[in-house]
Amino acid sequence: MRKQIVAGNWKMNTNIAEGAELAKMVIAQKTTLKTDVELVLIPPFTHIHEVAKTVSGTTIKVGAQNCAEWSKGAYTGEVAASMIKAVGATHVVIGHSERREYFKEDNHLLYRKIKEALNNGLTPIYCCGEKLDEREAGKYFDVVEQQISESLFELTGEQMQKIVIAYEPVWAIGTGRNATAEQAQEMHAYIRKVLAKKFGQDLANSISILYGGSCKPSNAAEIFAKPDVDGGLIGGASLVADDFIAIANSF
Ligand code: PEP
Repeated sequence: MRKQIVAGNWKMNTNIAEGAELAKMVIAQKTTLKTDVELVLIPPFTHIHEVAKTVSGTTIKVGAQNCAEWSKGAYTGEVAASMIKAVGATHVVIGHSERREYFKEDNHLLYRKIKEALNNGLTPIYCCGEKLDEREAGKYFDVVEQQISESLFELTGEQMQKIVIAYEPVWAIGTGRNATAEQAQEMHAYIRKVLAKKFGQDLANSISILYGGSCKPSNAAEIFAKPDVDGGLIGGASLVADDFIAIANSF
């Protein structure tokens, strides 16, 4: 059985008080969940510690939105995986399309970040997904396969086992236009096939693959019902506790 995960990427939203309040609202509503889906809250760096303290004693996990490719040193403005771990996070998003686009992060750099995360006991949530022009040109399988192979294929099987993958078509992120359940399933199955070729079918079958891109209470159930979709990485809707919980209740 693969783990079901719903992770909320708060991006550059909320201040520390608002973040703690949002976490408290998620905790309060968690009792309504019908399955043991794992919830991960992913606030800005400045309030990871506060949110981690707020959720301590519950099963809710906390993540960071990025980490440095280095472990320490003269890298002004960067945050090391060890520092993220030390303030109570268990997960880290690596390769979100906004980081690929605005900060020019490429697949090889992301591999180094994944290694840092793993070396410090964090679970990487590795994001992949094609842009609109790549989908329209019919290149989406090739693009995602390249992202996966360049960022993940140098990992050992043991390391790979610790990765969560998020398929996030860039054209669906923050646009209100989600992939159809069929498009999500098609890509998730393809990603699993690519992983199986490299790491074996058993390992591929054990990896949680989340869907991200305008996932909301109204479309989550249809998407999560697909056999290769193991949950979601949620942006906008994760800022509203009711919506986040409704999505987590969509299995
Ligand atoms: C995201 O940024 O990871 C995301 C999926 O955003 P949204 O849900 O707002 O499309």
